[in-house]
Amino acid sequence: MEFTTIKGFKDILPDEVQTWQRLEAEARRIFFSFGYQEIRPPLMEMTELFSRSIGEETDIVSKEMYTLADSKGKGLTLRPEATASVVRAYIQHRLYQNNPVVKLFTIGPMFRHERPQKGRFRQFHQIDVEVMGDPGPRSDAEVILLVMTLFRVLDLADLSLHINSLGCPACRPAFREQLKNYLARNSGSLCADCQRRAETNPLRVFDCKVEGCRDIVRDAPSILSYICEACAAHFTALQNYLEESKIAFVIDATLVRGLDYYARTAFEVQTEKLGSQNAVAGGGRYDGLIRQLGGPDHPGIGFAIGMERLVALMEEGSEKKPAQGPDVFLVGLGEAAGKKVFGWVDEIRRSGLWAEMDYGSRGLKAQMKTADRLQARKVLIVGENELASGRGVLRDMATKAQEEIALQGLVERLKRDAEAEKLRS
Ligand SMILES: [Zn+2]
Ligand SMILES: [Zn+2]
Repeated sequence: MEFTTIKGFKDILPDEVQTWQRLEAEARRIFFSFGYQEIRPPLMEMTELFSRSIGEETDIVSKEMYTLADSKGKGLTLRPEATASVVRAYIQHRLYQNNPVVKLFTIGPMFRHERPQKGRFRQFHQIDVEVMGDPGPRSDAEVILLVMTLFRVLDLADLSLHINSLGCPACRPAFREQLKNYLARNSGSLCADCQRRAETNPLRVFDCKVEGCRDIVRDAPSILSYICEACAAHFTALQNYLEESKIAFVIDATLVRGLDYYARTAFEVQTEKLGSQNAVAGGGRYDGLIRQLGGPDHPGIGFAIGMERLVALMEEGSEKKPAQGPDVFLVGLGEAAGKKVFGWVDEIRRSGLWAEMDYGSRGLKAQMKTADRLQARKVLIVGENELASGRGVLRDMATKAQEEIALQGLVERLKRDAEAEKLRS
């Protein structure tokens, strides 16, 4: 039998990894300048952590988790998202002890057993950012600024930032009642799931992807007409900070999340470019979550970026950079030269340059062909005669110019050349 990746899983091949590395490098660089530290929680947690944080009745928990039982029958789950793990670590290690505001990020794979569709995978990757210990609104503006800065640096165009306020435990119940009445009046146009949700947790109807439900939601009462004074002040201040930073935004009252611990700020960054799956990043404030998971009553806000979608956008916008070849390819002809070349390649590599050689003991023509295929910038040819005279032939593969150089001090010479070239390009 032939082994292949399992359904919904994919290899990220070397060609594509370039883009992933660029994304990760830029993210780390920008997060660092905003004072965020990296955390790497394990990929597997107790099942209960997710059912308690994400919610038993969500699709994620009820249908999509990869769960297995350990030898004692305890449920273990591959993380479907990162927030729960980061919050768990914050509580477990009392990360708040030395610093009242903790700013963390993590980058890695998540697992959800969803129906595979274009651009969606069962192992997918996220960049996840969490700020714990500050009630906002300045930290709300900062995380939004963080994600928008990353997208600007990555040169992504046609993105729009949508923001909303979800109110708080003081003002949301009144909205929930009005919404419930509205949904009851329109019950006939809702999908079966939403008809149930309209009773149990009407805010979750906003999460439904079914077209008919989306139409109903568009004309639903706006939460912004119900938020209390404190929530309104928080939301206005957030907008002022965004304006101060020249970040354009759209107020979108349909951007609602259905879980109780969400509060106030919710936001999403959307693109028109990837069809219907249009959110590339989303997040919000979760002031009740840390307490709900057994920690202190600390507020929090965070977001996640879907890396597959971002990589797709990055590749769409940019031309692939031509592959960079080795700085030098060493051709050794004959047993003695071959042995010397092996040692020199090692020395050149230790100096930080990329050096390659032929793995066989083939002739000049075959070795030159390999150097060409690898797109080596320079080739050094050393045979019996060159060994005896202490001078090798250095060929510039772009200009085809050849010169004789001393084999003594070879590494220094190649380093000088590489630096000069770097200055020219
Ligand atoms: Zn409120
Ligand atoms: Zn629905």
